[in-house]
Amino acid sequence: MTDLKKGTFPSMLQDPFADGSTQPFWDAAAEGRLSAPRCTVCGTFVLPPQPFCFECQSQAFEWVDLPGTGTIYTYTVVRHPLSPQLAEVVPYVSGVVELDGTQGAGARLLLNITDADPETVRIGDKVQIWFDRVSDTLPLPRARMA
Ligand SMILES: [Zn+2]
Repeated sequence: MTDLKKGTFPSMLQDPFADGSTQPFWDAAAEGRLSAPRCTVCGTFVLPPQPFCFECQSQAFEWVDLPGTGTIYTYTVVRHPLSPQLAEVVPYVSGVVELDGTQGAGARLLLNITDADPETVRIGDKVQIWFDRVSDTLPLPRARMA
């Protein structure tokens, strides 16, 4: 862990763990785009990507770029460092973000909201997704207040 910064949870990961279902997400992220699989049978967005649509069990998906904006659906403020090294980053905010351009449930992402004020952040606040290059190969999605 390097470059510890208050409010930003450090990634322990160096490379995305990708398979056939998730590689398009990482390919888009590398270009700074938020992309999600949409079922071509019923139109449901499925995030995180899964082999089957949870609505109709289809395996047919198309990848659609999303606006990259959303709304805080729920969140928590982490004030206690889980390890001594994290003392520099607490408090930080992790939130479930409902993504604009999707149906909501089933297409939400759990993200570190890097510039949220732990004392004033609220459910319903608007956020913008951004990609933090935590290594040469990992564009980690995070959110900031819009
Ligand atoms: Zn479907």
